[in-house]
Amino acid sequence: MSEARNIGIPVQPPQRSCSDSCCPFHGGLRVRGIILKGVVYKKKMRRTVVVERQYRIYVRKFKRYERRRSRISAHLPECIDVDVGDVVRIGECRPISKTVSFVVLGKEVAG
Ligand SMILES: [Zn+2]
Repeated sequence: MSEARNIGIPVQPPQRSCSDSCCPFHGGLRVRGIILKGVVYKKKMRRTVVVERQYRIYVRKFKRYERRRSRISAHLPECIDVDVGDVVRIGECRPISKTVSFVVLGKEVAG
């Protein structure tokens, strides 16, 4: 397969192809559910990265925002290159393993 599949999400498809069956562009993985943005926190697993997301929630009692963060394991297709610290977009997919049900869709363009 050379042409990247249209995944129905406005993201830039990766430059090169891959043979990863769990790639939304070149494999059979379907992306549905929520799309999130986060920072690559750890890249020590094979084809999986940990993405950290920081967000704020409003606490009514104190009329202030509380900072929270969560870490999500996401599958990294072979055709996408990311490094620790990169801002990436991840999309929800079927559970790939016990802890992975998101897939990296690409790097977020700075700005
Ligand atoms: Zn791919």
